[in-house]
Amino acid sequence: MKPLIYLDYNSTTPVDKRVLETMLPYFSEKFGNANSRTHAFGWIAEDAVNTAREQVANLINCTPQEIIFTSGSTEAINLAIKGVWELYQTKGNHIITVNTEHKAVLDVCKSIEKKGAQVTYLSVNREGLIDLQELKNALTPKTIMVAVMYANNETGVMQPIAKIAELVHANNSLFMCDATQATGKIPIDVEEEHIDIMCISAHKMYGPKGIGALYIRRKNPRVSMATQIEGGGHERGLRSGTLNVPGIVGFGKACEIAQREMWEDAARISKLRTKLEQHLCDLSNVFINGSTRHRLFNTTNISFQGIRSEKLITKLPNIAVAMGSACTSAIAEPSHVLKAMGLPHEDAYSSIRFSLGKYTTETEIDSTIELLLATVKDLIDNS
Ligand code: PLP
Repeated sequence: MKPLIYLDYNSTTPVDKRVLETMLPYFSEKFGNANSRTHAFGWIAEDAVNTAREQVANLINCTPQEIIFTSGSTEAINLAIKGVWELYQTKGNHIITVNTEHKAVLDVCKSIEKKGAQVTYLSVNREGLIDLQELKNALTPKTIMVAVMYANNETGVMQPIAKIAELVHANNSLFMCDATQATGKIPIDVEEEHIDIMCISAHKMYGPKGIGALYIRRKNPRVSMATQIEGGGHERGLRSGTLNVPGIVGFGKACEIAQREMWEDAARISKLRTKLEQHLCDLSNVFINGSTRHRLFNTTNISFQGIRSEKLITKLPNIAVAMGSACTSAIAEPSHVLKAMGLPHEDAYSSIRFSLGKYTTETEIDSTIELLLATVKDLIDNS
């Protein structure tokens, strides 16, 4: 069996060994409940949570009080959209989002639509970018929130966040950003970019699974939202439940490492992605999906025209990549993201997402290129 090559970092990342080491004592020796105020076990856990909260806050330039720990981005998004919609009903009932958002956002919007919310889904162009004029036209006095992701999980395409925030605030609406894929990879400054609400997930940035956070602005403007998980009043009453101390500690450490090392990682990873793309694009039937200018440095979504991605992936069992179709039903649906970008179904069915990470080596990229080129040629010759 050939060595396994992992190129699916947008799906999840391995836990950095330094993160794991920091977490380990909090499972057994330092096992206290961070909300136990009467003894040292609790104080030690609380101290560790405070440190982690600062580390997360430092990464995105907010205050620790603006960080609410959740089980990940899906939960943070549920809290943000449902919580704001419930609390801001007197202002309005309208939310704006984009067709290419993650299902965590789209499904929550669908769910509140059933309860009476009005949701506008902005379109994207062939590059995966929204049209700022379309956003401007969609804003109304009843728009309470606009939710636009920082970087797309399938294509890596990055939206013009600061410009979006400017338009949204000029309309006195709140700007929520799903930064699950961007946080830890590129610098994000919620002050400079005027983001009001933002979600982060630790397992996309070499932290553990099952932990994430929602950033909620406390000043200019002070954002409020209705609690979604009640009981016990943890996390300033916004998210009850005993804190996942080892997870939080690991998340904090992952943020600290990302802040220090992201530039170095980005430079190395983007070189590897360029090499991969340059070699694959030598094939005549290959093209890249999404803007190549406004894109995360680690992601490439490639269509191999005329070849179904399932077929290609089956021939490459040692390479872990993602397909541009979601097998969520008996029939594989083409990706909603590629569909929204106007890709013909056939091209969406033949797309593969490669997402590289800090443990990707040049040898792995060389092997991937070699295997892919040979397999694609073989499939074309025998078609
Ligand atoms: N948003 C984006 C853009 C994602 O890529 C993901 C995960 O794939 C999520 C939200 C959900 O994150 P989590 O796994 O932390 O619930």
